[in-house]
Amino acid sequence: MVDPFGRAIYYLRVSVTDRCDFRCVYCMSEDMSFLPKGDLLTLEELDRLCSTFVARGTRKLRLTGGEPLVRRNILQLFHNLARHLDSGALDELTLTTNGSRLAFFAPELAACGVRRINVSLDSRDPEKFKAITRRGDLAQVLRGIDAAQSAGIDVKINMVALKGVNEGEIVPMISWAHARGMDVTLIEVMPMGAIEPDRLDQYLPLSDVRAEIARHFTLRDLAYRTGGPARYVEVAETGGRLGFITPLTHNFCESCNRVRLTCTGTLYMCLGQNDAADLRAPLRESASDDALNAAIEEAIARKPKGHDFMIDRAHTAPAVPRHMSVTGG
Ligand code: SAM
Ligand code: SF4
Repeated sequence: MVDPFGRAIYYLRVSVTDRCDFRCVYCMSEDMSFLPKGDLLTLEELDRLCSTFVARGTRKLRLTGGEPLVRRNILQLFHNLARHLDSGALDELTLTTNGSRLAFFAPELAACGVRRINVSLDSRDPEKFKAITRRGDLAQVLRGIDAAQSAGIDVKINMVALKGVNEGEIVPMISWAHARGMDVTLIEVMPMGAIEPDRLDQYLPLSDVRAEIARHFTLRDLAYRTGGPARYVEVAETGGRLGFITPLTHNFCESCNRVRLTCTGTLYMCLGQNDAADLRAPLRESASDDALNAAIEEAIARKPKGHDFMIDRAHTAPAVPRHMSVTGG
């Protein structure tokens, strides 16, 4: 699939549920209302949708959410999608998780062919971790990371940089993760969905963070790309990789290779725009995939050039009304 700007679209991210066992302060409000379970696509429907994308050239599938591992029987979907790895149609099947249930699921995920995962970890201080996630248990997440590594899965740590909250933990997080063979990616807070705190209070530009890290470590720019928005450096002292996702300070859209599907079958062609295509109706309309294929083709032809994220005094409202958990980060 190629979009109007000549970008090859070969990466599908699927939010398999909007629910989560955490309520991270930058992601959700304390009092979230979630979709009625009956509105969700079934696991069979998610499989059919993903498989249609694979047949159209998608090489990488990431299941996310909400928290993907809280969806009931989600491992069934991993097991079924693994057939595309076996056939060679798919290069990678992966997930982004908060790690809360990873200790339990890691061996089975590995058995499904999952080789790399992203685990979100914004603090290694148990109290701060609980405050950021509003309910998470750090020890449980750390056990999940251990289990994933023991199962032979590569773990990358995603850390959202939060002003005045975890600024001082960034350098120690890099040392800790790199010593355990895990890459780290730092993420700027994005203005998505209504939350109680003011985004401006949370927003920490990664340009400042990088300057601070460079006071502790020698950073070498890398040509390494995962086809995603992160720009990587190598930390000379640790030999580990560090990524920066900077939607606010640097627009990363020119190399965008992805589209995002919600758990109700809505396809968002851009994380930061409102335009979307309904794939649930064509999916349910007939057992043939013709209508679905036509809807996907039409949607890719509308993929926008990029997002317009901004956070400053004049732009404190969300750029899009939906939370990150709807389209999956
Ligand atoms: N629950 C899983 C997790 O936390 O990894 C998967 C879904 S979560 C929405 C995916 C990623 O998006 C996480 O790394 C999270 O930190 C990030 N995220 C959520 N809301 C964000 C926001 N407003 N700005 C930047 N990153 C955000
Ligand atoms: Fe849940 Fe992930 Fe959002 Fe945190 S970032 S509330 S873990 S979906």
